[in-house]
Amino acid sequence: MTAEYDVAVIGLGAMGSAALAFLSARGVKTIGIDAYFPAHALSSSHGDSRLIRLGYFEDPSYVPLLRRAYQNWRALEARLRSDILTITGVLQIGAPDSKIVTGTRASCAMHGLAHEVLDKAETARRFPAFQLDSDDIAVLDPQGGYLRPEAAVMGYIKLAAEDGAVLHFGERVSAIEPDDGGVTILSAAGRYRARKVIVATGSWIAELAPTLKAHAVPIRQVVAWYQPRDGFATEPHRMPCFLRDEGSDGSYFGFPAIGGDGVKVGRHAHFREPIDPNQPNPVVNDADTALLDGFIAKRVPAAAGLRVNAVTCRYTMLPSEDFLLDFLPGNSNVVVASPCSGHGFKFTSVVGEILADLALDGGTALPTDAFTFAAMDRFIESRKAA
Ligand SMILES: Cc1cc2nc3c(=O)[nH]c(=O)nc-3n(C[C@H](O)[C@H](O)[C@H](O)COP(=O)(O)OP(=O)(O)OC[C@H]3O[C@@H](n4cnc5c(N)ncnc54)[C@H](O)[C@@H]3O)c2cc1C
Repeated sequence: MTAEYDVAVIGLGAMGSAALAFLSARGVKTIGIDAYFPAHALSSSHGDSRLIRLGYFEDPSYVPLLRRAYQNWRALEARLRSDILTITGVLQIGAPDSKIVTGTRASCAMHGLAHEVLDKAETARRFPAFQLDSDDIAVLDPQGGYLRPEAAVMGYIKLAAEDGAVLHFGERVSAIEPDDGGVTILSAAGRYRARKVIVATGSWIAELAPTLKAHAVPIRQVVAWYQPRDGFATEPHRMPCFLRDEGSDGSYFGFPAIGGDGVKVGRHAHFREPIDPNQPNPVVNDADTALLDGFIAKRVPAAAGLRVNAVTCRYTMLPSEDFLLDFLPGNSNVVVASPCSGHGFKFTSVVGEILADLALDGGTALPTDAFTFAAMDRFIESRKAA
């Protein structure tokens, strides 16, 4: 007999686990299925830490979603009785006319957000871990900090289970077959029916949503950890998390010494190398470590001790580097969630709520107009025209 559910969530990384928890909390019959086990190394949701910040340089329109995300992270912590979000501040460093600096200031101005603008001397006095060029400035977002991704994913799965969700791990979904009454879900282990399906399969998204094949591109991302040279300067209460705009060399991100491995850094999108999600992550090579070693020695000298770890992870990039949270075109029973582009984790707690709204109510009051297939198509058309 085919088991039947109100909603099935395929993929239990960050977004799927949160969606499953929000759905289950609303009392509907749910199943969550993942090909592996939670927060595994081929997912995009592992590696100890993820940045969160409120003065969003990418676009001020994200700020209302971020406010909701902060509320929902605190609600998750309260229910789990466990720390997920730690405030350290986020320092956003670069030339005064750089994108990160101007974008953060614009977001803060538009939404009246608390922030401080520091010159090189003031940054050195307060945050001695960092080395700025003479003309650089640093914008401190005091609401910024970091999230613990593994704890968040595990936490959402735990809450979903407590609220009655059925969980299947180590089971790969091979196909979804939507029809007018719902969706049939096929895997090697079974066949299920659900009224609605949420596809949140990260770097594999195009396998179950082939319309995204040309647009959702998994790329390789590398991060490395360094033992500090100066343990005082790199402690979380003396060193905020940071973003650093290097102009044509891209942007870098990093965290203070949170755990035993020390200070973690990466360059956003790294070398933008596409990967096959069905192959193991390519190993870290000399070009990867040379890039990150060079950055830390120049920009965060207090942290530039022994490199003790470096790993490959995955981003899934959309053309606009925005998110996609929408029904599959032509089928209101399938919701597709591709909120990565390398900056989605902080939104997990609000994306879960949005996905549950879409599946159960057919829409959401939260602002998602920028994250539809129509918005993605408009962006692609405008790029072609330009
Ligand atoms: C190194 C790195 C640093 C980052 N830094 C930040 C940051 O500082 N701040 C921030 O906000 N964001 C950051 N991001 C982005 C953020 O982590 C991602 O947006 C987010 O983790 C994506 O989660 P997801 O649920 O979409 O994908 P995943 O976590 O990859 O989950 C997808 C899940 O789907 C499962 N799956 C796939 N196919 C199937 C199938 N056919 N059947 C069943 N299950 C399937 C997989 O096993 C996996 O568990 C970073 C990402 C990386 C990689």
